[in-house]
Amino acid sequence: MAKTNAKPYSNLIGGNWKAPNGSTLENHNPADYSEIVGLFPIASLEDTKNAIDAAHSALPAWSRTPAPTRGAILDKASQIITSRIDEIATALTREEGKTLAEAKGEVTRARDIFKYYAGEGWRYSGQVLPSSVNDELLYTRRESLGVVSIITPWNFPIAIPAWKIAPALIYGNTVVFKPAEDAPHTALLLVEALVEAGLPAGVINFLTGDGALIGTEMASNSNVNGISFTGSHSTGTKVYQNAIKNMARVQLEMGGKNGLVILKDANLDLAVKFAIAGGFGLSGQACTATSRVIVEEEIADAFVSALTIATKNLVVGNGLESGVQMGPLVNHDQLETSQSYMTLGQKEGAKLLIGGEVDGQKGYFAQATIFDHVEPTMRIAQEEIFGPVISVIRANGLNDAIEKANAISFGLSAGVVTNNLKDAFAFANQVDAGVVKINEPTTGLALNAPFGGFKGSSANTFKEQGQAAMDFYTRTKTIYVNHG
Ligand code: NAD
Repeated sequence: MAKTNAKPYSNLIGGNWKAPNGSTLENHNPADYSEIVGLFPIASLEDTKNAIDAAHSALPAWSRTPAPTRGAILDKASQIITSRIDEIATALTREEGKTLAEAKGEVTRARDIFKYYAGEGWRYSGQVLPSSVNDELLYTRRESLGVVSIITPWNFPIAIPAWKIAPALIYGNTVVFKPAEDAPHTALLLVEALVEAGLPAGVINFLTGDGALIGTEMASNSNVNGISFTGSHSTGTKVYQNAIKNMARVQLEMGGKNGLVILKDANLDLAVKFAIAGGFGLSGQACTATSRVIVEEEIADAFVSALTIATKNLVVGNGLESGVQMGPLVNHDQLETSQSYMTLGQKEGAKLLIGGEVDGQKGYFAQATIFDHVEPTMRIAQEEIFGPVISVIRANGLNDAIEKANAISFGLSAGVVTNNLKDAFAFANQVDAGVVKINEPTTGLALNAPFGGFKGSSANTFKEQGQAAMDFYTRTKTIYVNHG
């Protein structure tokens, strides 16, 4: 699609749709970057302040709205998403690149998240506590935190906004939402569903444009009470430093370098399946992606040969085409990063088994790549690549495997493949990661379970998802009532 035909989209500030005014953010299809899939406003500092003011003004009425009434709006939004799964999933694949099947799975997850939190409107509560004096009622109330800034990455452009926005709204907060520059369209479709579902003006505000300009204000404005951020460690650090100036509450979920450990008794077919799903699903662009496979020496040769054969059969291409199993990377920077690590791995002395090249002629395509004999200290074993690159590290026994799994600065997710219950639980207890998977890929999460990393993967403040989200999005008030 030529630029002149590309559709301009709007921002939402205080209930008013604001069309682009001057230059726009071009949103490209990563499978064919000559196609511009939309033009988005570049919000100014003034727009950002106005959006925060609008959220601030909408807060008293929204926070006093009965939670089941708020839930009814979320439920309606879930129904609207259900009726548009194909449309939203297609938009997602077109701007982000993942396969249509992956996109449909993600949109379905967003729908379920809104349904889950709609129900929370009937359930959440404070506590009644035993009092130490006669005739006293002692209880707590969960109140909304206030205005929350929600800043999200491009790799799950509807699921991550959903798992932040749905709890924010159900617990009575108002929202300023900024998606990543590379995937604003899917985010806009979510906001449109919420508006159509009946969300009052100002309760959600939507801004696109320069992440640093908008994001800095969203983190540092004194009318913002909480910031929930998912993205890279370097950006998260800036968000934290800005938020702390106002003592705003912060939740940061960041990168990963997740290890899947394969013990010598493992079912090899399953181990290969999990490594492929975790390493090459979403083209390796998942925070929980399996970027390291730590395998016991006794079965390492058999494992890498089966893994290489399975990788050879992967169909890479435009995610909108049927049969494609791995889509492109999201943008040119991601392509260059993957290419640089593919080159670095060879320089560092790891053995390249398959892949190692990218093709940026039409879209941002990278080959599924496996390195064997990777040393834990090599940069390809230490740094987040966020591309389809698996580093195989060989280990001698369970303890060595756990030590190698932990020898990184991140701590998001980790997995073990084994039929030995004792080893499985030893791994689960000793591995330094916020999510542990036994006989499952390192990717894939339940929407009702706490999610968050350890070490450099997180600010280690508040968990996301399920009822754990209530701790971030509410404040607790303690009330003493003497009725004697
Ligand atoms: P990024 O850090 O580049 O951007 C994240 C968001 O921050 C975007 O919306 C961006 O516009 C915004 N931003 C940019 N500069 C900012 C600033 N100065 N202040 C405030 N906001 C700013 O990350 P990305 O490339 O979009 O996403 C990839 C990263 O996200 C990877 O590191 C990945 O591991 C991580 N991630 C983590 C999780 C998790 O739950 N732990 C989930 C998905 C992705």
